[in-house]
Amino acid sequence: MANKPQLSIYWAASCGGCEIAILNLHERLLDLDAAFDLVFCPCLLDTKKKDIEALPDRSIALTLVNGALRTGENREMARLLRRKSQLLIGFGACAHQGGIPALANLDPAGPLPAIYLEGPTTPNPARTLPLPETTVPEGTLQLPPFLGRVAPLAEEVAVDYFIPGCPPEPEQVWKALDPVIQGKPLPPLGSALGAGRSAVCAECGRRKREKKISRFHRTWEIVPDPEQCLLDQGLVCMGPATRDGCGALCPQVSMPCTGCYGPPEGVADQGAAMVAALGSILDIGPITGLSPEEIAARIDEVLGSLPDAAGTFYKYSLAGSLLKGRLP
Ligand code: SF4
Ligand code: SF4
Repeated sequence: MANKPQLSIYWAASCGGCEIAILNLHERLLDLDAAFDLVFCPCLLDTKKKDIEALPDRSIALTLVNGALRTGENREMARLLRRKSQLLIGFGACAHQGGIPALANLDPAGPLPAIYLEGPTTPNPARTLPLPETTVPEGTLQLPPFLGRVAPLAEEVAVDYFIPGCPPEPEQVWKALDPVIQGKPLPPLGSALGAGRSAVCAECGRRKREKKISRFHRTWEIVPDPEQCLLDQGLVCMGPATRDGCGALCPQVSMPCTGCYGPPEGVADQGAAMVAALGSILDIGPITGLSPEEIAARIDEVLGSLPDAAGTFYKYSLAGSLLKGRLP
């Protein structure tokens, strides 16, 4: 078909998994190809930034941006693609809420010292760190500078919709793209496409009972009952604080949900929602006659069995949370 609408796909601070999610559309890739002319996709095409700059504003029908904003280049490309696109969709957990790269926001020094100076497998006696500019006999080499903190896409540009997930499930991706391709009415701007509004627990088939947790377990410490709720069994399952739509894939195979679809509709902070959910189900035993200090010690004891609180509650959503991590 001549003069097809144009599609662009950009990866910012991303692992490439979101491109694989698009590849996983399998035969539907033919429908995608029939509907669009792919004009920009750094992992597939050799289109340059100047080629995109040369396009008229709003000439790209649809841009999918995956990955968080980590470098000045990510930010510049997000602004450029916003200007050139009619519809801009944040694709995947990193574009949506910062994703796993945003856990770097927890370190006030940023990630470079940990990677280049403290890594046990990185000998660096000269303590060299990457610089935005390095002069060598042949000229000046430039690298995009790191931003002060990893940020979600919507912090820099207006995002029309987002497709959550790490990566989004192919069925969900198609549910999101098909109405765009068919020109069907879309939900209000800012909505999640291809996902639900409730929590993963709502679509999880595991048997729930009144929860009381006196100790948390790592996944390798117990063999969970295959039918009972994982949280009931002391495995930290983020289902109560995570948007549904994936089909509760992880709990189905006895893996606790790690929260990749972000918070349910209307919840501003996924980690805080999970802390609130856990706060109501901790079992510290009888407290009659205990002093406040003894009660606090009991609570600490139960919470002490919870590994890596920030990485558990904010694995995908730190940059988009109320905490955000390190300030610029
Ligand atoms: S906490 Fe996890 S295992 Fe339990 S019902 Fe929710 S999603 Fe299912
Ligand atoms: S169960 Fe949780 S971690 Fe697994 S795919 Fe669904 S939202 Fe993501």
